[in-house]
Amino acid sequence: MHDILPAEISTWHRLERVVGEVLAQYGFREIRVPLLERTEVFKRAIGQATDVVEKEMYSFDDRNGDSLSLRPEGTAGVVRAALQNGLLYGAPERLWYRGPMFRHERPQKGRTRQFHQVGAEVFGAEGPDVDAELLAMGERIWARLGLDNVRLELNSLGNAAERAAYREALVAYMDRHRDALDEDSRQRLERNPLRILDSKLPEVQALLTEAPALMDFLGDESRAHFDGLREHLARLGIEYTVNPRLVRGLDYYCHAVFEWVTDDLGAQGTVCAGGRYDGLVELQGGKPWPATGFAMGLERLVALMELAGPPADESLHGYLVLAGDAAKNEGMALAERLRSAVPGLNLVCNAGQGSFKAQFRRADRSGAALALVLGEDEVRDRNVSVKFLREDGEQITLGWDETPAWLAAWLARRND
Ligand code: ATP
Ligand code: MG
Repeated sequence: MHDILPAEISTWHRLERVVGEVLAQYGFREIRVPLLERTEVFKRAIGQATDVVEKEMYSFDDRNGDSLSLRPEGTAGVVRAALQNGLLYGAPERLWYRGPMFRHERPQKGRTRQFHQVGAEVFGAEGPDVDAELLAMGERIWARLGLDNVRLELNSLGNAAERAAYREALVAYMDRHRDALDEDSRQRLERNPLRILDSKLPEVQALLTEAPALMDFLGDESRAHFDGLREHLARLGIEYTVNPRLVRGLDYYCHAVFEWVTDDLGAQGTVCAGGRYDGLVELQGGKPWPATGFAMGLERLVALMELAGPPADESLHGYLVLAGDAAKNEGMALAERLRSAVPGLNLVCNAGQGSFKAQFRRADRSGAALALVLGEDEVRDRNVSVKFLREDGEQITLGWDETPAWLAAWLARRND
């Protein structure tokens, strides 16, 4: 479980802000559900024969002897809350959530035991139009974040009967190659055969190239759903590849499933995953509402954003260096006037002691583009010296009155 340190917090804020804004553009409403639910809620929703429920949940008995679990994902709790509060009668209902999730996994790069997700769910719409809308929304989020190395993979899981027929064919095929399977895959074969498609082992992947393909088991209706989705995506200009091995481990997933993947993060390259889960609401005790959604992993998105570098408009712009007592007295008031007069200006005013040299070192470390210097001469003449810390440029001196306009123009040029 990781601390999120001040050095990365502005990236988190930007991510959360952009995601919130884009979800609002599509009419999604935020819902906040507890971190703890009865273990039963997750067992029923996620399924017994899954890694999450079998091995990864943080479960414990509370003082009444009720088994509770820290949420390993968001959908189960959102469905529980939506049913309990009658939210689905206004369907289609578009909901989103965010926050920490907990899974007892083997920690590695891109995989932690507490991680954060934002998820979006649409209840009461059969698609494929809303599925396409979800994909457009995801694409818009990546574009707004300046992430261009994220690609969309898509597959169709058909309906329950088609998956059952496929499962039989897959099991028959894999049974013939049992010797080539590792222990984990053999167990999956017994308990949840479609999960084998998820295997990352090269020898299993090699077997899978010859295995029956789920796509070949789809009937007319399922095909029409998938073709409909593809037509919407073509009209919207959304690029994707069909990955016939893309599955979700859970039984209630059907029709469209998808992932956004990047090559920039090593082995854990999936930044967002989702699909249609028409069977879940009924499983949780509601009417058979159709549903579709996705969840994105914020740590992985933050890592991608950091690789892309900070956007010009959110880094620190100025560091006010103060030399001498008179400057210390005037400096804070000057900084306040500048923050009021220049919208969007990010300015740090030196606090505490420190020689001229020490303050310049702090200015440099702060990442600020400009050092604004206020010394005894400047206070006497009511002006400020501006030094460029990152770009070329001669030091200049500005009167206090003209400083706001100069800074505003400088900012506008920079954000162009
Ligand atoms: P994987 O096959 O990699 O374990 P998953 O199917 O368990 O993925 P989902 O439950 O679909 O993942 O979660 C959606 C997203 O949440 C993932 O694509 C990923 O970005 C993120 N995520 C899931 N588990 C973790 C984790 N332990 N640490 C960091 N991010 C995670
Ligand atoms: Mg997992």
